[in-house]
Amino acid sequence: MRVSNILKPFKTVGKFLVEKPLTFHFPPESPVFTERFRGRHIYHPELCIECKLCGIVCPNNAIEFLLEKDKKGLVHFRTQVDYAKCCFCGLCEDICPSKALEMTNFPFLVAMDKKELYYDWKKLSENPSLTLPSIKEKKGLIPWARARSFWIVNFFTGCCFIEAIPWVASSFDMERFGLLAIASPRHSDVLLIGGYVTSKTLKRIIRIYSQMPNPKFVLVLGNCPMTGGTYWDSYNTIKELDKYIPVDLWIAGCPPRVENIGYAIFLAIEAVQHGYTGKKEYINTEHGKYSLLHLIPKISRDYNIIEFGPQHPASGNFNMLLKLEGEYVVEATPNIGYLHRGFEKLMEYRTWYQNIMLVQRVCVLDGASYELAYVGAVEKIAGLEVPKRAKYLRIIQAELSRIQSHLLNLGLLAAATGFDTVTRITWGGRDKVLYLLEYMTRGRIYQIYNIPGGVRYDIPLDFKDKAFEILKYLERRLKDYDDLLFNNQVFIDRTKGVGKLPKEIAIELDVTGPNMRASGVAFDVRKNVSYEAYGDVDFKVQVLHEGDAYARTLCRRREIKESIHIIEQVLDKLPGGPIAEKKMSKGGYFSFMSSIPAGESIHCVESARGELCFHIVSTGESKPYRVKIRGPTFDTILVALPKLLKSVQVADVPVVYWSLDNCPADHDR
Ligand code: SF4
Ligand code: SF4
Repeated sequence: MRVSNILKPFKTVGKFLVEKPLTFHFPPESPVFTERFRGRHIYHPELCIECKLCGIVCPNNAIEFLLEKDKKGLVHFRTQVDYAKCCFCGLCEDICPSKALEMTNFPFLVAMDKKELYYDWKKLSENPSLTLPSIKEKKGLIPWARARSFWIVNFFTGCCFIEAIPWVASSFDMERFGLLAIASPRHSDVLLIGGYVTSKTLKRIIRIYSQMPNPKFVLVLGNCPMTGGTYWDSYNTIKELDKYIPVDLWIAGCPPRVENIGYAIFLAIEAVQHGYTGKKEYINTEHGKYSLLHLIPKISRDYNIIEFGPQHPASGNFNMLLKLEGEYVVEATPNIGYLHRGFEKLMEYRTWYQNIMLVQRVCVLDGASYELAYVGAVEKIAGLEVPKRAKYLRIIQAELSRIQSHLLNLGLLAAATGFDTVTRITWGGRDKVLYLLEYMTRGRIYQIYNIPGGVRYDIPLDFKDKAFEILKYLERRLKDYDDLLFNNQVFIDRTKGVGKLPKEIAIELDVTGPNMRASGVAFDVRKNVSYEAYGDVDFKVQVLHEGDAYARTLCRRREIKESIHIIEQVLDKLPGGPIAEKKMSKGGYFSFMSSIPAGESIHCVESARGELCFHIVSTGESKPYRVKIRGPTFDTILVALPKLLKSVQVADVPVVYWSLDNCPADHDR
């Protein structure tokens, strides 16, 4: 054998280490974001009629106008966008009568200084283009090595973190860049804060930051920690995180697209390789107001009390105090509020139309269901008849959303039982579903697809072909999940008989969804009440009887198959015709200032986590008078979970917890 052949693998590895391949996806041929994605705007000043409607409709106050004189001395209003506030809902594009403001699919918006995210009208008129950083130059061995070993303590503070998750999955695979999510403050040099920050969460952030060794870097996802973002008027919002700790990189978006997070990672690698060692450390607890010291649990001689969450990857942004006797849980006390925004109150300050961009944010894990429950309640009061095509499209969106939510949960359960490979596979599959949702609705996580009376966009011509291809892929993968998890003795031993929820208790505690069906109760709002066009499709309500962690997980896996079957039927039968009711409007359909008659309604749907209802009251204005949401996780997590954890081994706590499929944003609201 020739020496050069022996050396070849070493050369390849060496080249990879020195020149990391700059690809967002792995492998690079994987689907990129679709051309339909609602990303950065482009402004055409020559088309603008200066009506200012875009500024009026914007729910986040992201649009401002500049008064400017042209060469003839005529004064014009020019439109400008602050991307530290924009949530990419596209309401401004919908309303613009002259197509002067349009959304491109460009998602890359990262800055070390928030002010750079303010796009004046000139910058907004330029065609967006991306230059990837060059990371070939290096400055010394230590920066080179440091740029190849970011150890991340990740804190899932809000929705944005759901877009960071694919970086752990097979489709992006951040470990090829030397990035490790290790979740331990004392061993990490990067703090990744994933989204919305409440005053309660801020104390935790300060505590984590203060424990990290130097040099340390802070990367922040999403607009909420910059400006308050979508929740700018919530009393619980921390608006400028850099008032409390230094922030090195702001990653804009709501949530930032996965590729935008990747772009930020490249910029960070480049900066560190060139010798950047982070901003000067400072901590502002506002004279102790945001200090956490008084919350450190005490250890007695009889019991240990430990905290589960809110920063641990196995908890989400949720906290429980566990009282332990040896390895066993004696008592579990949920401590909520880390994600509380006051959604029901915020909705009273937005018009019926503007609320379509708020409702799905109540639970980022399955936003489509919240859209459906909200618009259904509005349609009942407004007396809107939804066209059949729109009802079918809504089912496709809702079932795709259910599949991606169940796949996310399957990955979390796999991680909780030690099967990390399965986590990567399920989350890679979930990415394909999100790609399809984006191709259909123009939004990936927050689709903002439904309006009272119909849907916002029709599907592209080749959507059916793409959908069938991905559905076939997902169906093939189910067999792998059976082989790797459900028929695997280790997974069976970790989940069977664990966290048993008897049928009577499930009914008594108002647990719904797969958690209830896995305990032997055949209730599904899609079947028992029916809404949209669920009566036109054939599907089985999945029921199991054991009521343990295994049964709950298996129920979701079977529901994925049913959802695939439902979507296939709907695609085959999809009727033609309009996609929205016409009568409501000036602007063609339900418009942004429309009022609805006085009245009261309740509308329930079967979300991925169970029964979800919106109760709304209208006094005939353009905004709701009152809103009350009945979310699926409140009873399950805050009432049933503490009972299920009694006498459970501490190692099984994440298994029971994720088998109930929590969404902290839903119960905190
Ligand atoms: S809505 Fe369109 S036309 Fe009106 S001010 Fe905004 S960009 Fe200009
Ligand atoms: S996309 Fe939505 S949040 Fe952004 S500027 Fe337009 S209306 Fe405002």
